[in-house]
Amino acid sequence: MEEAAGRYDVAVVGAGIAGASVACELAREASVVLIERESQPGYHTTGRSAALFSAIYGPAQIRALSRASLPYFRNPPAGFTATPLLSPRGVLMVARQDQLAPLEAMRREVFARGSVEVMDGAATQRMMPLLREGYAAAAIFEEDASDIDVHALHQGYLRAFRAAGGKLALDGEVVGLDRSAEGWRVSTRHRSFRAGIVVNAAGAWADELAGLAGAGPVGLTPRRRTALTVAVPEGTNPAHWPMVVDIEEKFYLKPESGRLLLSPADETPSPPCDARPDEMDVAVCVDRIETAFDLTVRTIENRWAGLRTFAPDGNPVVGFDPAAAGFFWLAGQGGYGIQTAPAMARLAAALALGRGVPADIADEGVDAGALAPARLERAA
Ligand SMILES: Cc1cc2nc3c(=O)[nH]c(=O)nc-3n(C[C@H](O)[C@H](O)[C@H](O)COP(=O)(O)OP(=O)(O)OC[C@H]3O[C@@H](n4cnc5c(N)ncnc54)[C@H](O)[C@@H]3O)c2cc1C
Repeated sequence: MEEAAGRYDVAVVGAGIAGASVACELAREASVVLIERESQPGYHTTGRSAALFSAIYGPAQIRALSRASLPYFRNPPAGFTATPLLSPRGVLMVARQDQLAPLEAMRREVFARGSVEVMDGAATQRMMPLLREGYAAAAIFEEDASDIDVHALHQGYLRAFRAAGGKLALDGEVVGLDRSAEGWRVSTRHRSFRAGIVVNAAGAWADELAGLAGAGPVGLTPRRRTALTVAVPEGTNPAHWPMVVDIEEKFYLKPESGRLLLSPADETPSPPCDARPDEMDVAVCVDRIETAFDLTVRTIENRWAGLRTFAPDGNPVVGFDPAAAGFFWLAGQGGYGIQTAPAMARLAAALALGRGVPADIADEGVDAGALAPARLERAA
């Protein structure tokens, strides 16, 4: 039987990093319910990432949001987390002899973006001894790239949300969104909530959720990415190895809690779902990694896949829907939703509460117009 509706200023749908962070920012000055279909927040893409912060990765608006997030990562509010949110890693973008043209193109692109240096093959090999002798002809090194403690970030937001009086409703798949003069009625299978504003933080399902609200899809494409972990070769210590990314993003390898995280950097379009790795992607991954590194993968300890969801122009979708009053988008974070979350959450909370872009975020070059759902052509 359906329980009586609770009344809130804002209902946020989806408790991944996007929903948890914006709910936390909103709860400082509004009554907020955060509604999640699963029993475990972070079960989907947020819990499946490679946990990297790179200030030079992604399109211009993403880089601006990443820069604007750095102060929060380095200095979160008191009591937010007991452990640092960032720790040094470094990223080495390696090129074989036949990839020197893409390396040069990347060098021209990223030199203006942040502090990077170009290394020859010998220096690359010294920095990452697991590379096969002679594999790398050159590399671009981004020293400032960091590991993100995603669990600490996500849990920090959820804890602060609850401490501010926010309500987390788990096991609550939103199946209906109806608007009346009194605002939205948000229905899950067993309960319903009333809210003035609905925030769509439904990740890969964001276009589907918009459909419930009568708002046309903005054309999001979830893209599957596969990851696996393997043991490090005996007698090696990966703690200070950088992450290694192929210059054309055909694979990456990242030290992760005493293991190696490997990916073929696949981007296969997928319907929204509980993504599973495809055996072919796993095989391709192992082949590319064994070609580049002095590593024989005997046992795969863990394998998973997650959906990185992109708008057609690659920018996130943040702002009120032009056609559905009180329906606010926070979607399309692609492969950057963790590293941009602190700034994206503050930006989204400000816009949802009718304010402008916070000054420090605008100063980094974030343009609300480039993120607004109104910029995207709507399907009928
Ligand atoms: C392999 C991989 C590597 C990555 N590496 C990085 C990285 O290094 N750095 C980085 O910044 N980003 C990375 N990303 C991207 C990052 O993980 C995502 O951008 C981010 O997690 C998206 O968060 P989200 O909250 O939008 O989505 P999700 O975490 O998927 O959350 C959406 C939630 O909405 C819920 N939901 C959907 N529909 C409903 C409904 N009807 N009712 C209730 N709840 C609903 C879902 O259950 C889900 O929990 C990576 C992603 C993958 C897959």
